[in-house]
Amino acid sequence: MNVLSRLLNVAARNSLIRFHPKCKRVSLTHLCFADDLLIFCHGDVSSILVVVGVLGVFYELSSLQLNAGKSELFACGVHDDILSRAQVVTGFKLGSFPVRYLGVPLVTRKLTAKDYLPLVDNIRVFQISGVGSWFFLMWSSSRLSSFVKEYALKGTAFWEVSPKPQFSWTLRKLLKLRNTVADLFGNVVDWNAVKSKWVWEKLRDKREKVRWEHLIWFPLHVPRMSIVAWMVVLNRLPTKVKLINMGMKLDGLCDLCNAELEDKDHLFNDYGFVSGIWRSILQTCKIPHMILCWSDSLDWAVVNFRGKSLLVSILKLAWISLLYFVWEERNFRCFRGCSRSADNIFECIRRYVGDRINGCSINKADSVNLQLCLDWNIG
Ligand SMILES: [Zn+2]
Repeated sequence: MNVLSRLLNVAARNSLIRFHPKCKRVSLTHLCFADDLLIFCHGDVSSILVVVGVLGVFYELSSLQLNAGKSELFACGVHDDILSRAQVVTGFKLGSFPVRYLGVPLVTRKLTAKDYLPLVDNIRVFQISGVGSWFFLMWSSSRLSSFVKEYALKGTAFWEVSPKPQFSWTLRKLLKLRNTVADLFGNVVDWNAVKSKWVWEKLRDKREKVRWEHLIWFPLHVPRMSIVAWMVVLNRLPTKVKLINMGMKLDGLCDLCNAELEDKDHLFNDYGFVSGIWRSILQTCKIPHMILCWSDSLDWAVVNFRGKSLLVSILKLAWISLLYFVWEERNFRCFRGCSRSADNIFECIRRYVGDRINGCSINKADSVNLQLCLDWNIG
């Protein structure tokens, strides 16, 4: 993307591409949104031809070709003849304002609930599929701030400008936050101490730690597994029962057993599949298995998974891995049509736990630790 960016900027600097009238003062030729690209130029055929030429050069250099079928041309105040020629030259179809991104209009006013509907639908699709691409907006922040300063604030400093009705909703919101930001940074003595963690600690809403915090976040935790475990405990994973409660029309049947409703308790505690794997984990740790409901299981773990012993580290890692692999298995069966046995998943967990703990300092003079190392393949 940097190469394309430079090619466009060089072409504009050499006046081969004329700037869009609202982009000239900040020399803006394009913006990137993850893998989406917006190119701005003056509405004349020669500028558009050069843009097409630059895209061609970029294709020769990278083998990445723009998909004309997925690209759109937006124009305002351009004569119909020029617009028709631009369409022929680019092969792009003509888009209509407002520009939409993931179905949501890119406008300066506050978006209404109706505007967000296509995005909500996208999120629902994302939740059903379990996999999918999520979007992440990547703004060229320095360019954007100079654009706002030049065209919205007309050169006045952000801290001094008075809010005006013609400012966008977002800009008005940002201006309202000036006092909060001034309070936050007004008394800073050591600017070297101002890191993102410092800001987060100042701004965040501090509450009591939840009793199960140490089960999810511990020194050896694996972030992707801890996040799934965290969502399980909070009951935030989109199980079928949750999706039905959100208004989706589904059969609600668990993909692991095809017999009962798929909710958090069933999937992660009650069903024989998961309790069988948990029994194997406990047996490998020489701990007797008890059949408990989800809430009692969690209470048991909260009380017993304390301290820094090897056994506790293994149990915590095995527990978050179990929740992670069960959710993964559910998604595999639901969306990929493939499945693994409970024994396979237990072996995955055993390998994962062993690899994670390998290399940690362990007192092997302790017979319990020595046996655990043998049983969990810890070197
Ligand atoms: Zn089931």
